Amino acid sequence: MKALIIGGGIGGLCSALCLLAKGWHVKVIEQASAITQIGAGIQLSPNAMQVMQALGLDEAIKAAAFRPVASQMRDGMSGKVIMSSPMGRQMQRRYGAPYLHIHRAALINILLHALNEHSPDAIALNAPVIGYDQDDQSIKAKLADGSEIAGDILIGADGIKSVIAAQICGPIQPQFTGNIAWRATVSLARLGRDAPPPAASIWMGQGKHAVTYLLGNGLANFVGVVETDWPQETEDDNWHQQGSKKEVLADFADWHPIILSLIDKATAHFKWALYDRAPMPHWHDGRAVILGDAAHAMLPFMAQGAAMAIEDSYVVAQLLAAYQIQGLAQLYNHRIARTSKVQKAANANMRLFHNQDETSRFRKQASMAIADKFSGNKASTMALDWIYSHDVTARDY
Ligand SMILES: Cc1cc2nc3c(=O)[nH]c(=O)nc-3n(C[C@H](O)[C@H](O)[C@H](O)COP(=O)(O)OP(=O)(O)OC[C@H]3O[C@@H](n4cnc5c(N)ncnc54)[C@H](O)[C@@H]3O)c2cc1C
Repeated sequence: MKALIIGGGIGGLCSALCLLAKGWHVKVIEQASAITQIGAGIQLSPNAMQVMQALGLDEAIKAAAFRPVASQMRDGMSGKVIMSSPMGRQMQRRYGAPYLHIHRAALINILLHALNEHSPDAIALNAPVIGYDQDDQSIKAKLADGSEIAGDILIGADGIKSVIAAQICGPIQPQFTGNIAWRATVSLARLGRDAPPPAASIWMGQGKHAVTYLLGNGLANFVGVVETDWPQETEDDNWHQQGSKKEVLADFADWHPIILSLIDKATAHFKWALYDRAPMPHWHDGRAVILGDAAHAMLPFMAQGAAMAIEDSYVVAQLLAAYQIQGLAQLYNHRIARTSKVQKAANANMRLFHNQDETSRFRKQASMAIADKFSGNKASTMALDWIYSHDVTARDY
């Protein structure tokens, strides 16, 4: 049986690996001339790492990644810690998998290496897909150059602007959320004493926030999210572009020296428009299915978009193994409640991170939670258990 996977992002590559593990032949069809990711970091939470463990990739990822010691919320200007909860080895003990920070290129290399090892011809590059045709026997991906590739099923892992989702559900219109994200990585050697703490840190301010963390390769990662009108129009469909240091410094003027130093010492500052879309009302059409951002794109404020794509990839492979092609019809029911809940939580975080009233309310709740922790009541400090303890590899399908 052969699976056509449209898109060589994290969701597409993980789908290929999960299907290979179940004995499928796979073809990953990618529009770009190379499989790459923006030069930025990514947080891999324990729920995503469970899948990496099942694929046997956890050791390679751990070797290339950084393990944060804590998760922190700070005031963006003073740097004062509002809340800090320990991570490190405690995550492994609590959830059976670690919480890691890794450079996206390193993660992609590990996934690609595993794919090449098992299926050296699995990837077709420079191959934009414009849709699919199917009948009772097979499904064909239709490419922009007029050629076709045939398979038994087709997985649309082609991101927020998915052509496969559009064919399944009708025209899709991602909405600009009114936020842009600045992204940069900076070498720790350049930062010296101004390096950010070895934690997953969220620095909150009015109408903006920053996220800092360390990567496994001697780099620090900076994300700065700012509410703005840009871009009203995306005529050229380009949602990211290189900005200037001056612009980022203007956005974060008066912020803590660690933030200013990250901005100042970065050699490139990428600017991303953050788009959102309601989850697609259905994900499947005969032999075709969508997953990852194609099915449920979300704001990055829970650091869970890729984690959800990774979970989807594992689940779809199990459903296919249990129910053959009919399994595709079940992906939606297995995943919609969870992915929608995460999407909602990400939206709520935007209000929390960007609104000083919400922040001070949270500060009170957080100090109560910390007090609870020290009095032995762990319940209020485990607010993210529902995300991190969800282990798709430990379920029956
Ligand atoms: C600032 C920021 C920070 C983030 N941080 C985190 C984090 O810490 N943790 C986390 O889990 N998530 C994070 N995310 C979210 C995460 O990056 C995405 O959810 C994830 O990459 C989605 O993966 P995907 O494979 O579904 O889609 P994509 O990564 O969008 O991949 C889609 C692929 O399909 C290809 N493609 C598209 N159309 C076609 C076509 N017609 N034909 C052929 N190929 C096509 C594209 O070229 C691309 O390679 C963050 C996002 C942002 C913006």
